Amino acid sequence: MYRFSRAIYRELADEIIESPTGNRYTNHEKVLRACESAVERLATDRHYFARPTRTLFNDIRCFFPMASQRRVYAVVERYLAFADEFLANQPNNGFDVYGNPLQCRASTRKGTPCQRMPLPHNGYCPSHQHLAETEELQRTAAAAA
Ligand SMILES: [Zn+2]
Repeated sequence: MYRFSRAIYRELADEIIESPTGNRYTNHEKVLRACESAVERLATDRHYFARPTRTLFNDIRCFFPMASQRRVYAVVERYLAFADEFLANQPNNGFDVYGNPLQCRASTRKGTPCQRMPLPHNGYCPSHQHLAETEELQRTAAAAA
């Protein structure tokens, strides 16, 4: 997954504002780390990560001059879309790209997490698909409000 965060960093590295502390790598490290954590969150927590592009952009925009902001946003958007597409095309073998077992996002009636394997497009197992539909309706309602 890190190829996506490294690609964002590489595209933008030349425009990062140098840190005033004299340590010229500090801002670079912060940008790289923010990119890595955004991509990692996309890979492991996709369904709860509502606006990846906006989140990462807000995390790193302060390290770039005003004139670069539009380009920074475009680069972040492009590579997170690549990462998202890559993740969406992973075989659903029960594990995420880091080898962690996937689990349905729902809880059972007893309140324990559902242990069944989720479907990749919404993170719910076949018996909990109705929750995905409810969620979709809520999102539509929220967007309309
Ligand atoms: Zn389930």
